[in-house]
Amino acid sequence: MSENIAVLGLGLMGTALAESLLAAGHRVTVWNRSPAKAGPLVAKGATRADTPAQAVAANPLVIVCLLDYPSSRAVLEDVELAGKVVANLTTGRPAEARELATWVAERGGEYLDGGIMAVPQMIGRPGALILYSGSERSFDRYEQAFAAMAEPRFTGADPGMAPLLDLAMLTGMYGQIAGFLEAAALVTSAKYPLGEFTSSLLVPWLNAMAALQPAWAEKIESGDHATEVSNLEVNRAGMENLVRAFREQGVKPDLLLPMKTVIDQRAARGLGHEGLSGLVEEL
Ligand code: NDP
Repeated sequence: MSENIAVLGLGLMGTALAESLLAAGHRVTVWNRSPAKAGPLVAKGATRADTPAQAVAANPLVIVCLLDYPSSRAVLEDVELAGKVVANLTTGRPAEARELATWVAERGGEYLDGGIMAVPQMIGRPGALILYSGSERSFDRYEQAFAAMAEPRFTGADPGMAPLLDLAMLTGMYGQIAGFLEAAALVTSAKYPLGEFTSSLLVPWLNAMAALQPAWAEKIESGDHATEVSNLEVNRAGMENLVRAFREQGVKPDLLLPMKTVIDQRAARGLGHEGLSGLVEEL
């Protein structure tokens, strides 16, 4: 089904979103603060609006993709939102999403928040994912249109849920990057070829470790941190060893030290017999 959709914000991501909607046959009206960015989309069939209010007037679904929430709020300020569905795909904090959802509801609109788990080049292609939360009725109504941009996944009625899960996924990513950077510093300090270490040793090892995480999640959900793999005391000694080895090698273990602090704290409570999953309770 072809929908009438307004896209507010034509940065790298907004442009990719609008392109994928046009390619799927939707009627798309675009607006951007710097109007020149609309040109290539107009050439592909989009309608250009001079103001956000004009873009929204003719379209029941409004997709927002701007720098941040303050700019999203400013752009929607003078727009008639009654009866509209606002899907804000701008990255932000859960509290900002909840606040904007209330603000839109006060103006008679329905609100969905979205967390984009993709870069612009992935939009409209398999592998791209967008997490949504907020109005389930709006999600159900437009799920098919959303699917043109990326696989749509509804995560709950709390508008803050999609940004929270987005941040949780980024957290996992930063943890992995931190581990890689420390490993890279250690390996290069010994002049071992980093490319070979990374592809033939580290990546297979990380994949094997990642495969254990669903079992860890079960332990955390159950609160039972008993382990048959390696207990906290063994890991405490291992981390001590690691940090010492880094220093002997002339490398700073700065990205590892926060984890060591939490392991030491948990072990000091006499919980050295538990597995590492118990660390979550220290957080
Ligand atoms: P860009 O920097 O390319 O675009 C930013 C957009 O915001 C432009 O349309 C810009 O308008 C507009 N903007 C900035 N400030 C204001 C303002 N005060 N009033 C009105 N418009 C404003 O960023 P992206 O498109 O890459 O990112 C947009 C959102 O998508 C961000 O929240 C980002 O986190 C998210 N995202 C991006 C990803 C990526 O890989 N790029 C991945 C996942 C999420 P103008 O053109 O006039 O400057």
